[in-house]
Amino acid sequence: MTASLFIDGRWTAGSGTRRGTVFDPATGAATGEVAFAEKADLDAALAAAQKGFEVWRATSPFERGKVMRKAADALRAHADEAAQAITREQGKPVGEAKIEVMISADHIDWNAEEGRRAYGRLIPARSASVTQAVVMEPVGPVAAFSPWNFPVSQLVRKLAGALAAGCSIIAKAPEETPTSAMILVKCFEEAGVPAGVVNLVFGVPAEISEYLIPSRVIRKMSFTGSVPVGRHLAALTAQHLKRMTLELGGHAPLIVCDDVDVALAAKTSLAMKFRNAGQVCISPTRFLVQDAVYDRFVDAFAEGAAALKVGAGMAEGTQMGPLANGRRVDAIEGFVRDAVEHGATVRTGGERIGNQGYFFQPTVLTDVPLSARIQNEEPFGPVAVMSRFGNLDQAVKEANRLDFGLAAYAFTTRADRVNRLSREVESGMVSINHAGLAMPETPFGGIKDSGQGSEGGIEGLNAYLQPKFVSVQTG
Ligand code: NAD
Repeated sequence: MTASLFIDGRWTAGSGTRRGTVFDPATGAATGEVAFAEKADLDAALAAAQKGFEVWRATSPFERGKVMRKAADALRAHADEAAQAITREQGKPVGEAKIEVMISADHIDWNAEEGRRAYGRLIPARSASVTQAVVMEPVGPVAAFSPWNFPVSQLVRKLAGALAAGCSIIAKAPEETPTSAMILVKCFEEAGVPAGVVNLVFGVPAEISEYLIPSRVIRKMSFTGSVPVGRHLAALTAQHLKRMTLELGGHAPLIVCDDVDVALAAKTSLAMKFRNAGQVCISPTRFLVQDAVYDRFVDAFAEGAAALKVGAGMAEGTQMGPLANGRRVDAIEGFVRDAVEHGATVRTGGERIGNQGYFFQPTVLTDVPLSARIQNEEPFGPVAVMSRFGNLDQAVKEANRLDFGLAAYAFTTRADRVNRLSREVESGMVSINHAGLAMPETPFGGIKDSGQGSEGGIEGLNAYLQPKFVSVQTG
């Protein structure tokens, strides 16, 4: 099957002949094609987004919310189909994929509701005959670039925020995982979103971003992906003085203090680490464990990692699927080799599995010097790096060592430690004693090199709104 573009309310194979190939990460076999947009298609999408914006901004938030809630229900109705498409193209276990789809529907619902509460304010004036108001208006057509690790939920964060605010959108979804993005967009089509409000394209990412971002039609850019690409797109967007949201990489510390139930902390953090085979921007990577519990924690964690059932995402009982593509297997192999060359010990895993598909063992490394690449660059894969600390000052210093600042985690039962860690760790998000991030109603975003702005929560909606000040004198 060939995945197609959705422009101005119509599905099209585009005006050109270029196609990308879609692979099943569990087998490495080609399963389909994706149509690539040419300039003529992007021009059509830009014209559609402008037209769609005029219609959608004039639609009341109440009516917009109704359409969005219908789209959320349609997504729930198509949840199995969407989950299977995610698994076939991205690899994660189908149960995980279904959770991604269901939470995506919740994102749409939350934004549909909150769009009705995008209040402005009245500012007391210096004269009784003057009324000063701040009204919130949609920023305009959005160019959005979403990645392959969560093909539906990363796209939905951009779509739901933009649509709730009254913006139209041209979304460039990932070429590796097009089918579930198409299913999501079909849900909006089924729900009756006017033509031009939602446009979906695929193609050569650099060609598309370099064409869309400078266009006069586009008023905002939103990107989720790696720091280097984010830096490049930020420069391009800034050159054209447009708004942007950047959700970039992370290298999350996970701090385990000596006052915790070690078995529980190991079990909870194991699930956090190996979800989606570690291909999660908020995946914990640097495990900092206090001396007194270090051996017990590492033993329990490594034992749990070695016992995980790795297999095809569609197979019954699979706990960790393949990596999404061959690039990731090469990258993870390179990180492990480099760490070992620097003196690290492989406690478990460390190797690719078989020669079919993109499987890699859940891996735990110890004694990894700070000079190893994995201590500094985002691994984006199923590798946990264990390090010791003596006191909390050392843990905080190590947590803050890098220029990343997306997510951070800690396990402790002591209130004074909770207070210190939540205040002193430099991170856009901190989750203590559980995996508490990425809900529709909570902000999701990083500081430092990990990005700018938030998706999710009221912050995510505000990212698509701009204030207009209106001052009126009467009489
Ligand atoms: P990559 O850096 O080539 O691409 C990352 C994403 O950016 C992809 O979705 C890609 O299509 C897009 N992209 C690349 N160049 C672009 C351009 N000029 N304009 C617009 N979009 C562009 O790497 P990759 O191999 O696809 O992914 C690996 C790295 O990406 C990981 O190591 C991780 O750091 C990062 N990543 C992060 C997230 C996240 O959730 N923050 C998701 C996926 C990938």
